Parts: sequence; structure tokens; C-alpha cells
Amino acid sequence: MSGSHPPEDPCADRCQRVTLYGNPVLRQKATPVVSFDQRIEELVNELFDTMHAIDIGVGLAANQIGRPESVFVFDCRDGSPGHVVNPSVETIGEGLQDGWEGCLSLPGVDLRTTRHLRCRVTGEDMHGERISYEGEGITARCFQHETDHLRGVLYVDLHPVRVRKKLEREMKSMEWFGNQSLDPRSQIYRHAQSED
Ligand SMILES: [Zn+2]
Repeated sequence: MSGSHPPEDPCADRCQRVTLYGNPVLRQKATPVVSFDQRIEELVNELFDTMHAIDIGVGLAANQIGRPESVFVFDCRDGSPGHVVNPSVETIGEGLQDGWEGCLSLPGVDLRTTRHLRCRVTGEDMHGERISYEGEGITARCFQHETDHLRGVLYVDLHPVRVRKKLEREMKSMEWFGNQSLDPRSQIYRHAQSED
């Protein structure tokens, strides 16, 4: 090929569509990963590129791009991004935190949500090596939120039914609602994330 094209962004094609509230895949329990082959590395790369396509993204679980594997990535913009395969979370201490929480599968929505202040997530890396991360604050919130995803649980489930019903009524009037998934670079998705 000629060299007249600008260099291609190697990440451009790895960005996937984000599955949205109402898509049954978000209610499925993840399948444990037993074979640590190239597919897992590719999945981790796709998760990172999809999450990084969204300015406010700090974590993304595999079912949020329609994949069944038990994998999530995180990047709380503290210079230490990571990924965990087959994660499990244990809380550390009794401390709680209360703060705004949102989800890339419910764009434009957030709720004050109580979480444990500190936790540890353990699992494997993409090569099957045991790994463990400790987190506090936003990082701990992210670990709890993403491992919930892999159990088919959404953060809105942590709220009383009346709050969820009200939220659902609000979501039904949002432009994205009714789509099973969207490209996070699409205008409709970007517009939803900038709404408040
Ligand atoms: Zn989420």
C-alpha cells in the first residue's frame, strides 16, 4: 500500500459496542476462564480500548461488551490500570463510603451508592498468573462494581425498589433507551454521557 494514508490508530478497531441496561447479557453470570490463550489477551485489549473511548470510564466488565468471560479492566486514572480474570472480592475492615456511582451501561445516570471503603480483589492475569490488588475509595468502588457485573448484578440493584422504579421511568425517556448496545463513540452515546 502507498504511504499516503495517515498512520492508523492501532486501537481504533478494538473499541466494541457497549451493552446497555435492558440487554439480558448484563444479567448473566460470567463463565470462569480456564484457558488463558490469545483470546483472553485480545478481550482485555478490547475492554481497555472500549473503556478508554469514554472519558469518564474507570472500569468495564466483559458482559458490557457482550462477552461471557469472567474478566474486567480498570483504570481509575491514578496511573495504575489493570485487569483481572476470574475475580473475587473480599472487603477489608468495616469502613463504608457513600458517593456518586454510575455505569457505562446506564449512560447519563448516577446514584449515591454505599460501598465498602476498602477491598481486595484476587484472580488471575491474562496469562493465568495469580494476582491481587488492594483498593480504597474510587478504586475499591470500581472493584466491587465490576465484580458485581460478572455476577449479573448492577449497582441499581443495591437501591430500594422504589428508587429503581423511578430511575427506570426516567431512563425510558432517554434517547439511548431501547438500544441493546451502542458504539461509545456514537453521538447518541456521547450525548447521553454529557446529560445531567
Ligand atoms: Zn457498570
